[in-house]
Amino acid sequence: MSEMRYNVATRDWVVVAPERARRPEDFHASKSPVTGDRLSHREDCPFCPGGEVNTPGETLRFCDDQEQWQVRSFPNRFPALTAEEKEGTPIGSLFQRRLVGSGVHEVVAESRLHNTTLALQSEAEVEWVLRAWSQRSLELSHKRELEHLVVFKNHGASAGSSLEHPHSQIIGLPVLPSSVRRRFDDAFRFFQKGKGCLFCEMVRSETEERSRVLVDSYGFLAFVPFASECPYSVWIVPKRHSHCFALSEATELRELAGVLQQVLARLYFGLRDPDYNLIVRSANPPGPGKHFFHWYIAVVPRLTKLAGFELGTGMFIRPSLPEADAEYLRQLVLPGK
Ligand SMILES: [Zn+2]
Ligand SMILES: [Zn+2]
Repeated sequence: MSEMRYNVATRDWVVVAPERARRPEDFHASKSPVTGDRLSHREDCPFCPGGEVNTPGETLRFCDDQEQWQVRSFPNRFPALTAEEKEGTPIGSLFQRRLVGSGVHEVVAESRLHNTTLALQSEAEVEWVLRAWSQRSLELSHKRELEHLVVFKNHGASAGSSLEHPHSQIIGLPVLPSSVRRRFDDAFRFFQKGKGCLFCEMVRSETEERSRVLVDSYGFLAFVPFASECPYSVWIVPKRHSHCFALSEATELRELAGVLQQVLARLYFGLRDPDYNLIVRSANPPGPGKHFFHWYIAVVPRLTKLAGFELGTGMFIRPSLPEADAEYLRQLVLPGK
């Protein structure tokens, strides 16, 4: 029997249809070769070492002991948004309102190697990437008047990535997107009723329930949400209440690197390197939400396609049980572990 489940954080309903349930193998990505089997260097890749001249205006560089860069960031050559001298003033009448050139769009090259990904990297390497996200987010939000900043990663073509080289992106916006505003509003409403932080409560509930938990570390909980829209989606939520990822302590980023690496490795080896989107959902450092919003990382594998029902309703049909997804990923024995 199918059932509908309610996601308290997004106020969305999702249809869970176990009769459509498929085995984990049915979700295995069919791409060939998988990331780890590609060439480690490509002459034609703008993000591989040697292509640095193609990405001018470097904004961050972390080097190893041999002074070789390991992680670097730079402006996107084909930005979705650009920074201009005169910015921030909307022009046009109410029905033709426009904002010109207001925003930032940076790329973070996550490794020197073309054929790696966070799932295959060491915890120390993943930590470098997290530090880059955090440092650039902080610097950008201090320097510019941004309403919202989003760190995200598209892994694979069906997740929207046009370049194979491991990389992530940071976009700063002069406006608050409606889906983000809705999440803030919902968290605020929950808080206002005297119920505290919605996400702190969710962590408590998932910890107690256990059936959807993947990793339970000292400071973080990784779990398949009760009513997630896509199979094998995972949320990684800090146990300490904090509205802003960029304000994480160095020790927290170190611990998060281990948790994130493990979650992504379970997806990589359990589902054969699936395409996915990773989004850091966070409020700005000085922004609203200090008491009621709680940052987290959402990993959404691209294993199902949007069809008429999804487009027509905004609701999703989920062909697997979240508890079964969690059990499969949890029990997987990772190579070398
Ligand atoms: Zn490359
Ligand atoms: Zn909280």
